[in-house]
Amino acid sequence: MDHKDLRKWSGEAAKWAEDYHASLRERPVRAQTTPGVTAAKLPEIAPEAAEDMAAIFEDFKAIVPDAMTHWQHPRFFAYFPGNASPASMLAEQLANAISAQAMLWQTAPAANEIEEVMIRWLRDALGLSNHFTGTIHDSATTATLSAILTMRERALDWKGIAEGLSGQPLLRLYASAETHSSVDKAARLAGIGQNNLVKIDTDFENGMDPAALDSAITADSAAGYLPAGVILCVGGTSIGATDPINACLDVAKARNLYTHIDAAWAGSAMICPEFRALWTGVDKADSIVFNPHKWLGVQFDCAVQFLADPTPQINTMGLRPEYLKTQGAEDIVNYNEWTVPLGRRFRALKIWFTLRAYGLTGLRERIRNHVSWANKVAEVISTLPDFTIATAPALSLFTFQYVPEGQNPNEATAKLLERINNDGRIYLTQTLHEGKFVIRVQVGQFDCTRDDVMMIPKVLSDLTRGS
Ligand code: PLP
Repeated sequence: MDHKDLRKWSGEAAKWAEDYHASLRERPVRAQTTPGVTAAKLPEIAPEAAEDMAAIFEDFKAIVPDAMTHWQHPRFFAYFPGNASPASMLAEQLANAISAQAMLWQTAPAANEIEEVMIRWLRDALGLSNHFTGTIHDSATTATLSAILTMRERALDWKGIAEGLSGQPLLRLYASAETHSSVDKAARLAGIGQNNLVKIDTDFENGMDPAALDSAITADSAAGYLPAGVILCVGGTSIGATDPINACLDVAKARNLYTHIDAAWAGSAMICPEFRALWTGVDKADSIVFNPHKWLGVQFDCAVQFLADPTPQINTMGLRPEYLKTQGAEDIVNYNEWTVPLGRRFRALKIWFTLRAYGLTGLRERIRNHVSWANKVAEVISTLPDFTIATAPALSLFTFQYVPEGQNPNEATAKLLERINNDGRIYLTQTLHEGKFVIRVQVGQFDCTRDDVMMIPKVLSDLTRGS
């Protein structure tokens, strides 16, 4: 296959993509397959001889789509969305066509400069103070790992990266039980240890209790630990919990601790000024992550980290050997020095395309609709026999339980969830909240309509009527 063939097959792929997206409402949302079925359709070993693209494309159509869960399905209400607006898909195609490795300014000047401008556009769109700069990572997990490595090194006065952790004081990090497992993972990978990530009690609204944070730091300092940083969440994964950002940042700042806010999902909603009260005080944070690849419509993968001052992170992760220097431009921003990998994709292009193709007004309208439809659908579910809302909508996420008389609610809810996802019209997932197995509903798919959302109570009624 050469570049002339690529033109022909790109055209075929575009036609297939249009038909695929048009067919989504007729497809079951969650893949209706079992482990091993797809692998068994592939030969045991790689082909020796080149194959015709027509045959490869036919196999793709026969094997892949039916064995995929359709994240762009308008009735995908599981996890959080992984939205890919058509404009961001186009940008990815163009970035693929150029296929640059954007590790340094000089290896991809446009990619680096558009990244700088997109960080500014997004910072302003989210209403953040103009002292923030930032960068793009693949995922929130990597951004959080970067922030936690920075917390570690700042607390150790950069001795960890030079000498290793052996012989250094034992560090402590603080987060609430509602923070995402990526924080636990980062504590493990950073060599701090998961047991030194202290989970602070939450108050009755499921946010971190600032007084408990203060006491934990005092107790740890007295016991000889070195507190290094606080990780706060805005819109946690399980039920959308948010820590009281202002009060917790005040506690952390009074102790000179580095702070990171995980707003991976909810950050996108901050393009709407009316939701910003959720993170009042955010401008005092050192680091903030949000995923435009979740709710904003920028194709996966794309995680934006805002930094009040990039220097501590660059001091922690940046290396500039001779072969990575840009002759005559020592002051140039090379984003690989801000992030874990050296190699970088041109992710800023899809942000640029998305913001321009829909405008902030169009994106705000989508998010406002999702929040309002989530509230409406929670209200309808609360009126269905045997259903209770377990946690009220946090933005567009809520949870419910199925509690038929005489049955164990956790078991009944789990069984119902399997029936919902086998039915295929909608896709929902579960969480455990205060010992209860509950079903999560998040409304946020880029193309979903009010009718798609109202399919949720219809499916619940259809599956439980007479049962
Ligand atoms: N933080 C929160 C609140 C999340 O919901 C998620 C994923 O859903 C993550 C972090 C991890 O995101 P990523 O897949 O970009 O690493």
